[in-house]
This record gives sequence, C-alpha cells and structure tokens, in this order.
Amino acid sequence: MASSSPDPARTSSTVAERLAGVRRDIAEACRGAGRSPQAVVLTAVTKTQPRDALEVALSTGQRVFGENRVQEAQTHWADLRARVPDLELRLIGPLQTNKAADAAALFDVIETLDRARLADALAVAAAKGGRTVRVLVQVNTGAEPQKAGVLPRDADALVAYARDKGLSVEGLMCIPPADEAPGPHFALLRKIARRNGLDTLSMGMSGDYRTAIRFGATHVRLGSALFGERNRPETPSMD
Ligand SMILES: *Cc1c(COP(=O)(O)O)cnc(C)c1O
Repeated sequence: MASSSPDPARTSSTVAERLAGVRRDIAEACRGAGRSPQAVVLTAVTKTQPRDALEVALSTGQRVFGENRVQEAQTHWADLRARVPDLELRLIGPLQTNKAADAAALFDVIETLDRARLADALAVAAAKGGRTVRVLVQVNTGAEPQKAGVLPRDADALVAYARDKGLSVEGLMCIPPADEAPGPHFALLRKIARRNGLDTLSMGMSGDYRTAIRFGATHVRLGSALFGERNRPETPSMD
C-alpha cells in the first residue's frame, strides 16, 4: 500500500464491512460449536479510535462497546449516551481505586475487578450512586506477573467477597498469555465460572475469538479485527 493513500481501515465502508464479516464469523463459530448465534455478544473495542469509527459502528447497529481507559471512554461516549439510549459500555482495562466512582458512573459493566480494595471502592460508589454495579472478575489465568487479574486460586474468594459487598457479579474475564495456546486458559476460566455459578465469560480477542466461542465465550472483545491496527501502541494503562 502506498503510504500516501488513506488508510482503508479508516474508511467507513471498510469498518462496516469488517463488522458484517465478523458478525458472520461469530454466527458460524456458534453453529460449529452447537450454540445459538445469539449466544455470543460482540463487544467492539474502540480505544484509540477516532470519532467517525464509533459513528460507523453505531450506524450498523452495534451497541456494545469496550474501552480500556476511563478518561478516553468519557471523551468518546459522554455525549453519545444521550443520543443512543440502548448503548452498553464495558470497561476492559485496569481500574485504579480512585477512579472507581467515575467508572461506576460511566460504564454499564466493569470487567476488570481484580482485588478486594477495588470491590470496596465500587461498593462505596454504588451506595453513593444509589444503584447496583455490575462486574466481571478478571482472572490472570496464566499467572503472568505483569498482567492484571486475580490468580486462579484466589478467584472464588474474590467472587464471594464482591457478592458480599453487594456488587452484581455476572461472570469472569481473561486475557490469555500472548505466547500460549489460548484454549486451556479459556477452559480454566469456564471451569472457575461454573463452580461459582457464573454465566458470563468475556474471553476472545481478534486473534482467538473463534477458539473462545468453542470454549463457551458469551462476550468476545474485538478491536483490530473491526477497526484495523490501533494508532497508539498498546501500553498498560492504569485508569
Ligand atoms: C485492546 C483490547 C482488546 C481488543 O484487542 P484486539 O486484539 O485488537 O481485538 C480486547 N480486550 C482487552 C482487554 C483489550 O485491552
């Protein structure tokens, strides 16, 4: 591709085509796994994307979006909220305790609960806001030191703790190690979810969502497959 030509991933027809293609792929993977095509929700990850990418996704009927930073999510979505009443925003990046109230106010679901102190802060935010906070517990299935998430052996205790605090714990989320086959990690997440009576499994990204669907994912989080490569490199964020 000539460097002077516009990035085709940014053109609206391409984003719309990619969305349609991914939806077809998801339905096919569901059928292949003997699951209903409605069993899997596509979370479109819009971190680093320009406003027009969000608009195109909305115009195709996409309503569930993932962001990994509280502040960028506010910039992206604060005003669109009013226009799109059925929007669902999911926080998929690490959350600092001091941003818990902001996150609880903006997001419908926080997928990255990974420690008791954060559960405490979210419970305070819920009480102040007079509403229930919906969460997933993020599990560090590969026990990677640099990665967020509770260790698998501590997951049951954190689920119990969050429930005790009044949070609505809907399920689990994981990001498998980049250099390993994801299947065993997805299987581990499903096993932890089952023994805790949890239905939601947020697992699978652009590179491995078909595998995740085979292992029971209910939510797949896709960025680059929909919008092309990101502008800014992925840095660990602490929002
Ligand atoms: C960025 C991100 C994604 C999307 O990644 P792609 O590989 O671009 O699909 C999914 N989950 C989390 C937690 C992310 O930070």
